[in-house]
Amino acid sequence: MTALVRMLQTVVKSSACFDEYELMNNAESIVLSECLSTSGGEKYHTHLAALYLEAILQRKSVTTGNCTETTELLSKLRSLLQKSDLYRVHFILDKVRGTDLHMESAILYGKLEEHEKALHILVHELKDFHAAEEYCIWNSENRDLQYRRRLFHMLLSVYLNPGASDYALVMAAVDLLNNHAAEFDAALVLQLVPDSWSVQLLSPFLAGAVRQSIHTKRMTQAALGLAQAENLIYKYEKVKQKGTPILLSDKKVCQVCQNPFCEPVFVRYPNGGMVHTHCAANRRLNSNMAHHSSTSSNQT
Ligand SMILES: [Zn+2]
Repeated sequence: MTALVRMLQTVVKSSACFDEYELMNNAESIVLSECLSTSGGEKYHTHLAALYLEAILQRKSVTTGNCTETTELLSKLRSLLQKSDLYRVHFILDKVRGTDLHMESAILYGKLEEHEKALHILVHELKDFHAAEEYCIWNSENRDLQYRRRLFHMLLSVYLNPGASDYALVMAAVDLLNNHAAEFDAALVLQLVPDSWSVQLLSPFLAGAVRQSIHTKRMTQAALGLAQAENLIYKYEKVKQKGTPILLSDKKVCQVCQNPFCEPVFVRYPNGGMVHTHCAANRRLNSNMAHHSSTSSNQT
């Protein structure tokens, strides 16, 4: 491993172009194969990113226009910056700052969750609207819908922020809304878009939003219905469990014999009348008692 560090350092310091490129190819294959599985990954990923960066900047300083070698290095650097979570973002960002490596800056800001800065670079520095949309998609991978919507809304705000005077930005905003209707909260969008925009301009977006809204309403109604049915089941269970509470105290008297209750066992009729168990048994023998019981229960 120490040999690897020495090798990386040699490559960074080396000024001989052909040696450097050769060495770098060797170094990256070693780093990628060996360091992904080790705990010291951060050091090597940072080294490799710095290595790409130095080589790119050096080539850019001696040649105008992009040679294939630089393009290849750039795509390797981007891939590393996007896919790896093991390098020191602030360290690389310090090196990128002040250069014209806008895409790389955007990726790094994205890693720091500073999405507004990243989108600003993609939209205003690079004017690469497709890359900005892609940015929203890959930065919200494995995140919830709210996170994705926040990113897309942020991009829309970046398009429309400076008063939306730039025609290209306005068109980018319209395309974004019409192509990604599902990624937006329509109510928030309508607050943001200029009043001068016609309904026709946004008709695909609005149609999508209305469809989504109706779907949500129906799903909510279905959920509400199910919840109400469930609630009813629990209410029935509750009634069954509790019934009406019956309080028996020594002040209450039997409606048949008018004597107080001396034991906790009693009989209760559906009309609420309470009697001794033995009185109820006697009463069953004499059906005339039923009339007597209901009149006496009315009196109490
Ligand atoms: Zn009695």
